[in-house]
Amino acid sequence: MIEFNKAPFTGRETQYMQEAIEGRKLCGDGPFTKKCHTFLTERFGAAAAFLTTSCTHALEMAALLTGIGPGDEVILPSYTFCSTADAFVQRGATLVFADIRPDTMNLDEKIIEAAITPRTKVIAVVDYAGVACEMDTIRKIADRHHLQIVEDAAQGFGATYKGRPLGLLGDFGCFSFHETKNISMGEGGALLLPDLSRREEAEIIREKGTDRSRFFRGQVDKYTWVDYGSSYLPSDLNAAYLLAQLEICDNINADRMRTWNFYDAALRDLAEAGRIEQPFIPEGCIHNAHMYYIKVKDLAERTALIAHLKANGVQAVFHYVPLHSAPAGQKFGRFAGEDKWTTRESERLVRLPLYYRLSEEDAETVVNAVQSFFK
Ligand SMILES: *Cc1c(COP(=O)(O)O)cnc(C)c1O
Repeated sequence: MIEFNKAPFTGRETQYMQEAIEGRKLCGDGPFTKKCHTFLTERFGAAAAFLTTSCTHALEMAALLTGIGPGDEVILPSYTFCSTADAFVQRGATLVFADIRPDTMNLDEKIIEAAITPRTKVIAVVDYAGVACEMDTIRKIADRHHLQIVEDAAQGFGATYKGRPLGLLGDFGCFSFHETKNISMGEGGALLLPDLSRREEAEIIREKGTDRSRFFRGQVDKYTWVDYGSSYLPSDLNAAYLLAQLEICDNINADRMRTWNFYDAALRDLAEAGRIEQPFIPEGCIHNAHMYYIKVKDLAERTALIAHLKANGVQAVFHYVPLHSAPAGQKFGRFAGEDKWTTRESERLVRLPLYYRLSEEDAETVVNAVQSFFK
């Protein structure tokens, strides 16, 4: 069976983890975490980066930092992972789901303004498949209405929008280093800040509400509980694993890109014959080969295709069941306007195996299996 995903492993993880163990400093913010922070700030030009235990937790930190609360509203796509929504539900906010664009599966910038009410406080965008939303437009809307932007860049590591890195397109950027993402530490994530204005608050939230970071910098002579917080920092052991991946992240993404491009070229005939649709990458966007998906006619055809692929030794999967149709989505939110594309497009989408070091031979098997279905 060609699996849908295999956790990336580069070789150096073991050495770094051993060093972390022998250094006897396994708690958070140890030497490997610091190296990861330096890497992330330098690489992306972020003012600050904080490793977290997950992207879910980075989103929670972001939601806390926005100050959103009961009675406030957040506009977000319904076609996303539940973590995008969970962070705001936890603050007591109301979810306002807006429709996606059928071409990128991202929040449709043209309908956001119609979903804004006097209670709207945040727009939460998701970079689906590592492809950015139309952020220049969304930024203008946010500025016009004094809204903050939380960017769920869980899938966006290494991708760019008009030359700017994903994760730094909003006021708060959230990466995931879950083992299903391009760069991994098993479970983990990061919060990125574009400027220093919220750095201290973020440090306090991440360190159980204490000013421990200021203490370590020597700015205060003892640390105190100063505000609400939680524990969002991962063990240095996980950071050691991550550092090995960050160091060769360009190789990892380039390797995935080879498979992505192979699929895209090999399946073009089917697209030209009108049997499938392929991913669309808007001008100005450079994606990171996080995902290769195709869209088929409808739900019935997709179910049949996934079964056919399985019978041919290929594990393919669909993606999000729209949040507004889930029990929690109904409890905590509403759909603004018409669901023209979210349900329809989500039912047609299927993701093909894609991971670091997927062999060419396996990629060919995948393509052959897709082609044989349509024969
Ligand atoms: C993977 C993912 C998350 C959750 O990431 P974790 O690190 O597992 O918490 C959130 N949002 C999106 C869009 C994702 O793809």
